[in-house]
Amino acid sequence: MTTIDRSIVPDQLRASVAWLERDEAALAGVLSRVTNIVAEAGEGSWLIDVDGRRWLDLTCGIGVTNLGHGHPRVIAAAEAQLRTLVHTSVVTHHQRSIELAERLGAGCPFFADPQVFFCNSGAEAVEGAIKLSRQVTGRPGIVAFRGGFHGRTMGAVSLTTAKGKYRARYEPLLGGVTIAPWPRALRHGGDEALAVTEALRALDELLEVQSPAETVAAMVVEPVLGEGGYVPAPSAWLEGLRERCDRHGIVLVFDEVQTGIGRTGSLFAAERLGVRPDVVLFAKGVANGLPLGGLIAERSTMGRWPLATHGSTFGGNPVSCAAALAVLDVIADEGLCERATRLGDDVLTRLRSTLAGSPQVVDIRGLGLMIGVELSSAATADAVQDACLRNGVIVLTCGPGENVLRLIPALTISDADLDHGLTVVETGIKAS
Ligand code: PLP
Repeated sequence: MTTIDRSIVPDQLRASVAWLERDEAALAGVLSRVTNIVAEAGEGSWLIDVDGRRWLDLTCGIGVTNLGHGHPRVIAAAEAQLRTLVHTSVVTHHQRSIELAERLGAGCPFFADPQVFFCNSGAEAVEGAIKLSRQVTGRPGIVAFRGGFHGRTMGAVSLTTAKGKYRARYEPLLGGVTIAPWPRALRHGGDEALAVTEALRALDELLEVQSPAETVAAMVVEPVLGEGGYVPAPSAWLEGLRERCDRHGIVLVFDEVQTGIGRTGSLFAAERLGVRPDVVLFAKGVANGLPLGGLIAERSTMGRWPLATHGSTFGGNPVSCAAALAVLDVIADEGLCERATRLGDDVLTRLRSTLAGSPQVVDIRGLGLMIGVELSSAATADAVQDACLRNGVIVLTCGPGENVLRLIPALTISDADLDHGLTVVETGIKAS
């Protein structure tokens, strides 16, 4: 039962404590939570808890509520759809999934004739990509990259090496999966070109002696390493993957579950990075909090996925699709891709200046509004996260050493809120 000593709880936190006790009793302990906040409502970039405290949310529910909490146009679209049609599954076709597939396809200028498959989550999208690429190539192998996070289901976790605890005691995992290095410039004295050369050399060796290229169905990569430490992939490395996939007939899958839907400055990071994948995966931000995920690929690829060999009961449900259509409208109408690029560049410039010379700061990096501040240790990152919380600002950490602060504000965050959040983060880092 609960470890909370109620006798020391101040009156203004009574509701939170009561809910936390019930949470601890009723919910499986396997699910960790980043904070002890019991959220009741969300308004834009702010969360309000059951005791009425307001929190500036620089996490977006881990990169999901990209338009802020409760965006009125998304709510209105979902509400209207709820009243019209909620669910038919594969029993019928429905309008919203058709419209959304058309719109998402049109948002991928690197595809000539795209088609979409809908599911409910990021991990399911990864599972779909594994199955699609195995069907299309007739090969078993999947290559993923060290530090990647692709989800918790057995297939997706087999590709996940962001932390050992995600895999330990779940073995044996999916067969045919091999893990190649990610080019981390920091481990090569900051020399990105050298990191890319070394990573591609190791990949070539892997394709030669461990997973022969002719047995590999897909390479699955995040354009910005997410859970693994917020490290943007060098374009030269992604081009190297593209070249090897072309040479060996391997399907190149970009897992854009976290980078997609405007977060990195274009609808999908592939566009901004200038490298063409064969399959793009999306989830998280697509419906601003309603469950939806999926795969986008050329018709020539999707068309080789035999009828009824994959499917989903809830995938692409009308309500999530209606919300996602509103998300795409808002992103276009409010110029949110451009805003993500501009604010991301501003944040990097600001933090590099205000934190220059701070001994705790190892690196500041990012693409669009996916910003990572690598600190000297997990203890430092914890201390900064706690200091931010004490000042009403919620931030996340990531990285294999849990020492990277990650900032994922809403693309709609006001300049004043962003300024306030960054000031709190900077003060926390300087005091750590
Ligand atoms: N892929 C990436 C890049 C992710 O960041 C995540 C979740 O954080 C997933 C896949 C899994 O998504 P979900 O939690 O919706 O299954």
